[in-house]
Amino acid sequence: YPDDGDNAETLLKHADTAMYHAKSEGRDNCQFYNIALTLQAEKRMHLENDLRDALEKQEFFLVYQPQFDIAAESFQSVEALIRWNHPKQGSISPLDFIPLAEENGLIIPIGEWVLRTACQDAARWHQQGHCLEVAVNLSPLQIKNPGLVQSVLDILAETNFPPEKLVLEITEGALMEHNENTLSTLHALRNHNIQIALDDFGTGYSSMNYLKRLAINNLKVDQSFIHGLLDDDDNLAIVRAIISLSKNLGFTVTAEGIETLEQAQVLKHFGCETLQGFYFSKP
Ligand code: C2E
Ligand code: MG
Ligand code: MG
Repeated sequence: YPDDGDNAETLLKHADTAMYHAKSEGRDNCQFYNIALTLQAEKRMHLENDLRDALEKQEFFLVYQPQFDIAAESFQSVEALIRWNHPKQGSISPLDFIPLAEENGLIIPIGEWVLRTACQDAARWHQQGHCLEVAVNLSPLQIKNPGLVQSVLDILAETNFPPEKLVLEITEGALMEHNENTLSTLHALRNHNIQIALDDFGTGYSSMNYLKRLAINNLKVDQSFIHGLLDDDDNLAIVRAIISLSKNLGFTVTAEGIETLEQAQVLKHFGCETLQGFYFSKP
């Protein structure tokens, strides 16, 4: 008082805002209130409200990033990435709205929309003679959703898209709880010939024991290792180790975030199968 409020109600409200900030910074710390926190919270609230209508208003669209198959020397697959065309703020990154959609559960209908749209688009390419695989990102919440397998099967039937051409990307984070339900969901998807890729590999805490029980086809090495590949021996060693581990476990390897020819050459030399990044094409 008086900087952060001149009455009890305002002071308590702002103290509360500071407390939420402290919690979001990992708890067990001290934070002071400042006006930026209120502005940030308001922005978030507005964004969340807008997100509720975005599906209905058809503000989402998908972009596709091609993935280069080294053996075939051509693009055999694409990854679907969501974009939100906000009426006032323009294009909003999934990194900014997916976490919100995960908090309020909207990720379930949004995720279904992504899957349906990607399968529709890819089915159309197949009809035109381009038999590409399509990879779709799944949020951990979707994997925990008991209706996931049926929903994927329904969408495949509805769009007439072959299951073996669909790749579902899950992150290591989604597997961190080492939950038996997750394992059986992945097995059920594999039993229907749907492919599973483990995205952003190397950033989470996968136990090797768990990894070997997973019904996955492909590991995607996280971009952070690729970016520093040529000027950091540690990254080089890590990427080599991931590739050799994957081969021994029977998975194929995709490297993400390839921005230069040199990076592509090194990864080819190490035996990586698929390359994805701005060097080949932006999404
Ligand atoms: P991700 O699945 O790991 O996707 C790769 C991200 O890296 C994409 O960012 C892509 O544009 C970017 N990228 C690709 N090549 C390069 C490169 O050479 N250099 C750099 N610096 N970046 C590159 P984007 O589209 O912003 O997506 C970010 C993340 O948002 C995705 O990471 C994924 O986790 C999530 N996401 C995107 N679309 C969806 C979706 O439909 N559903 C869910 N649940 N998550 C999604
Ligand atoms: Mg991905
Ligand atoms: Mg990734």
